[in-house]
Amino acid sequence: MSRLSLLMLLLSTLLFPSVTQIEKALVKKGELRLFFSKPFDKRHVTHFTLNNPHREIYDFQNTRIAHSRVPLGLGPHVRLAQNTPNTVRVVITGYKSTKPIAYQPFFSNNSYHISLPKDSSLLPAERYQKPETVIQRAKPVRSKKHDLIVIDAGHGGHDTGAIGGGKREKDLVLQIAKRLEKQLKKRGYPVHMTRKDDRFLKLPQRTKIADTKNAVAFISVHANSVPKRKQNKVHGVETFFLQNTRDARSQRIAERENKSVLKGMTQLSRNVVLDSVLSGPKIVESNKLAIAVQSRMMTNLHTRYKGVKDGGVRHAPFWVLVGASRPSILVEVGYISHPTERKRLFMPRYQELIVKGIAEGVDMYLENRKREIDL
Ligand SMILES: [Zn+2]
Repeated sequence: MSRLSLLMLLLSTLLFPSVTQIEKALVKKGELRLFFSKPFDKRHVTHFTLNNPHREIYDFQNTRIAHSRVPLGLGPHVRLAQNTPNTVRVVITGYKSTKPIAYQPFFSNNSYHISLPKDSSLLPAERYQKPETVIQRAKPVRSKKHDLIVIDAGHGGHDTGAIGGGKREKDLVLQIAKRLEKQLKKRGYPVHMTRKDDRFLKLPQRTKIADTKNAVAFISVHANSVPKRKQNKVHGVETFFLQNTRDARSQRIAERENKSVLKGMTQLSRNVVLDSVLSGPKIVESNKLAIAVQSRMMTNLHTRYKGVKDGGVRHAPFWVLVGASRPSILVEVGYISHPTERKRLFMPRYQELIVKGIAEGVDMYLENRKREIDL
């Protein structure tokens, strides 16, 4: 730990001396839901796994279990413990292939959710009463042949997108989009590409297909960029979903990505389009899809590249996502302005880790959605 980070730690202890308390823990809709005494900062969660047997561990720093009515065991897969005086540890067992998704619902910053292995939300009694249901749930056969995914490679034609070290965003995102198409088809999804070559598309052309063909997800692939004086500092992977935002950085990125598609639209028609989608349930779905995709991309990239920065899930008013009335996300796969990241972004091995992460995220999101409908 550097002297600076030690100082930061000391400062944060001085500024936030009181710990957060977990006041309630329950399992609902296949998720462990934790409720805190005050707004909880999700940066205080550390996630890692232990093997033999496989366990998913979540450590909540600066947190205490409030009282004895908070259950320490919830069903067959979940244990809570006050691991150190200021750390609550959640241990989840039972995962084999799929991974849990942990997220903070964006409408409630006093809570934190972690998805559980498939049968954990059923009480033991229920499982013994209805063994046939459990058998069905344990081996879900989800046909993907009706789950159309639309992949949108950003920019194209005269619109090069960002340029870094002579490399163009439009070429990079087309390479990644094509790999993603292959990866998703391999998993059984039908895929539609908004562009398969170097051409410019107007906004309605990008999103129309997602609406008319009943797509289950719309994924726009982009690369990020910052001005020269910051190019060595800023890097990382970010996933966006559509929402109006006051966050200045998100707005700047959105502005850059929006420039080409907004030509010819009046401010009034922009506002009308945005208003029409901002209040629908699609945003919640897009948020969930974004969380799943971002988390699987980071897990995959970190298996081989330790220093890749997790820029997290953010919201921004991207116009390419406005027209698609489907769960829609925009993935900024990295910064083409950053010398090291740019080099990696054009490497096939790196691209494969990105698309594997996106595909796993789509899998996870759709499986969870199916489970929510079932329960
Ligand atoms: Zn772009």
